[in-house]
Order: sequence, then C-alpha cells, then structure tokens
Amino acid sequence: MVGHPPSLPFEPFKTKVVERIPNPTRRQREAALERAGFNLFNLRSDEVRIDLLTDSGTGAMSDRQWAAMMVGDETYAGSRNFAHFEARVHDITGFPYVIPAHQGRAAEHLLFSTLCRPGNIVPNNMHFDTTQAHVVHAGGTPVNLAVREAYDTVSDYPFKGNVDTAALDKLLTVEGKERVPLVMVTITNNTGGGQPVSLANFTEVVHVAHAHGVPVYLDMCRWAENAFFVREREPGMGSRTISEIGRAFFDLADGATMSAKKDGLVNIGGFVAVRDAPLADRLKEALILFEGFPTYGGLARRDLEAMAVGLEEAMDLEYLEHRVGQVRYLGALLDQHGVPFLHPAGGHAIYLDVDRFLPHLGDEELPGQALAIELYREGGVRTVEVGSIMFPQGSSEQRPLELVRLAIPRRVYSASHLAFVADVVGRVYDRRAKIRGVTMTYRPERLPHFTARYSPKTR
Ligand SMILES: *Cc1c(COP(=O)(O)O)cnc(C)c1O
Repeated sequence: MVGHPPSLPFEPFKTKVVERIPNPTRRQREAALERAGFNLFNLRSDEVRIDLLTDSGTGAMSDRQWAAMMVGDETYAGSRNFAHFEARVHDITGFPYVIPAHQGRAAEHLLFSTLCRPGNIVPNNMHFDTTQAHVVHAGGTPVNLAVREAYDTVSDYPFKGNVDTAALDKLLTVEGKERVPLVMVTITNNTGGGQPVSLANFTEVVHVAHAHGVPVYLDMCRWAENAFFVREREPGMGSRTISEIGRAFFDLADGATMSAKKDGLVNIGGFVAVRDAPLADRLKEALILFEGFPTYGGLARRDLEAMAVGLEEAMDLEYLEHRVGQVRYLGALLDQHGVPFLHPAGGHAIYLDVDRFLPHLGDEELPGQALAIELYREGGVRTVEVGSIMFPQGSSEQRPLELVRLAIPRRVYSASHLAFVADVVGRVYDRRAKIRGVTMTYRPERLPHFTARYSPKTR
C-alpha cells in the first residue's frame, strides 16, 4: 500500500430496506462456472456475492419513487402518469415530443428502424453494443469516431468521450446526408470507459453535422454523470447546475434516446425524444407496432411515475458526488495495488485494462473473458468483458479496447463492498501470471457476449 487512504464517498441516503448478500463457497462458484459455460450472464443471482455486471436497471429506488409506484393510474390511453413523465422529460431536455419505451434498446429500435436504411452509415463517438446491433439490424454500418485519446488507457485526458470532429467532417464530406441519416453521440461513452464528452466538443459536432444537413442525436443514458464531469472539468462550467449543463447539450441536439435504467434511476424504462413533428408521428407508429400505445410505451404506468421522480433525483449534486465518488474510491484502491485500469475513472464503472493486466495472453485467448472468470472464481464478483467478444467486428477502429468493466449499481453497495472488490481484484492481480486463456465453444451470431459459451484452456 502506498500513499494516503482514499477518501470515503459520503452516502447521501440511509437504509430503509435491506437484502441479504449471498455468500457462495469456492466449490459452489467452481460448479456455477461449469454450469454457466463460463459465461457470467448464465449465473444465478444467489451465486454472486457482489454484482458489478451492469449498472443498468440494478439501482435502488428511493422512498419517493416507491411512493410514486403506488399512484400508478393504469389507464391504457391518457394516463396521468404519462402526462407527468412527459412534462418532466420536456422540462429536462426541452424536446417537444416524448415517446416512452420499455428500455434503451427499444428506443434505439424505434429510432433506427425509422431513420436508418440499408447501406447507410451511422457515426458515433463509440457505439454501445445494443446501439451498434440496431444500426446493423436496420442494414446500416456503425462507425466509431472517438478522439485518439479514447484508445489510450493511461492518459488522464479529461474528455476521452469526445468525437474526432475532423474525421466526422471528412466522413460527411465523402458520404453526404444521402448516406448518413444521423450522427449519434453517447454521453458518457460506455464502450470507451464511461468517459465524458465536453460541451465544446458536442457544440463542434453539431456545427459540423448541421453544415452537412445531418441531424445529431444523443444517446443520453448517462447524461447527468456526463454533466457532472463537465461541471468539474470544463472551463467556465463550475458554477452551472447539472440541469443547466444538460440543457446546454439538449438544446443543440435534434433528439435523444434514453435508457432510464441508468440516469433515470429506475429498474425498467426509457424513451426517445425528438424535435421534429413528422418524425415523432412515424416513431409513434413504430411504437404502437412494437411497444404499445404512446401513453405507456411497453411499461406499466406506475413505471412512468417512478421514472419521472428518478430523472429528477439523478440531477442532485450530492447524489452525483457520491456516485462518481464511489467509482473513484474503487479506482484509488486499485491504484494503490498497482492494478491497471483505464484512466481516469469513469462515471459509472472502472474498466480494467486487460492488455496490461494479462500481457502474456494473445487476443485469440480471449483475455478479457478469462479475467472476468477469475474475478468471479476468486471472490464471487461478477463483471463483464467489454472487448473483442462484445465487439467482434470492432466496427471501424484499429482494434477495440480490451477491458473488463466493473459497473457500480446506483445507491446499492457501500464503500466496504467496494473495498472487498478491490481486495478480490488485487488477489487476482497477484496471481495474474498463472491465468490461462479461454476458447469460445458456442458463438451466437448477434450480441455474442450474452449467450456465448466458453471452456478454459488447459495448456
Ligand atoms: C444501456 C445502454 C443502452 C441500452 O439500454 P438498455 O436499457 O440496456 O436497453 C444504450 N446505450 C448505452 C450507452 C447504454 O449504456
């Protein structure tokens, strides 16, 4: 251990309901791995001690949100919960048309099936897995245009989510609006380490895209976390509120998709919001076909009410200080142990840098998956590979980053749980030289990481 103990993130909430944490034995964990085909998505929750698989829909709702669930007006058309939800999204984003969806990928399905045609190209800083899959599903080609620094896991560049606007301009000059139906920007950049996009960069993106007549949409899943970083790091932003910073982004954009399972602080929910009335009508047609009537969008109305409250709670500065503080706390503990991860710590997760963690394993040995398996084996900590398995084609970039994501659910775990995680990662790091690779024994065609199966290499 070196340096001072990292500062503990203060929890701006107290506990009202508790859930027992499972404690599987090493033998049970070994058996669970075999049964799961070494895919951690196949584990049962009672086989997991600390679950850092995802921060999506895994957070704890507040007492106010649970109270909101009780005022659900379960009307098919015209529910008052929808009116409340719609008004809240409108207040936050300024987008006039709000279309509810049951989660982020449903919103992506509506947007891409409406706007994207076979042969189209969709640029993004970095596509998330479901976003990429929906572009492909609509016949398009996803292109990642993050800045060079996004691929450097060591530098402390403050806005690694930024778009390379020169590359964007070049792409739009060559392909034009005929082939590029929209530009997407993901805040924060989940695939690239939960890194923020600056307001200056987003302004430039919109300037470039609009000059070519191409609209810009935000993947706004973690917009409040992004705004927190902008407030902290971007010159002149320190005295602005989260809501003002968010609004500065939304005012520039033509629309957005949202998984409210992230910065909506709910277990299920999402939406797509747009400025253009004819587009909103087409999205609503798709919505009725795939999700449900426009005043519920595949959700119970009580879910809309909980979302309305959660969207507001996610903007609370003290909440965000704790949220990002937890990620930094885990990062600081790992730094003390010399464990390599993508710097700086992201908004919702720590991403272990597998190339530096397991330098003795080649790409074909699926080192990210091998590491995720070891973290579970060592201490029952469930994580996910974000690398060559999640992104098999790698889309346009040189080589995708090979990472293992430790995503922290919102308002769920305490600092001592994170200290436990750091200890488990540290123990695996200490025996890293002995870790072997894995082979994929079943490879599904789409979104492979969810259902693939593996077997450990014996030599
Ligand atoms: C989670 C996520 C999505 C998809 O949302 P779901 O609610 O999981 O369907 C899209 N984009 C990003 C950046 C995400 O993190």
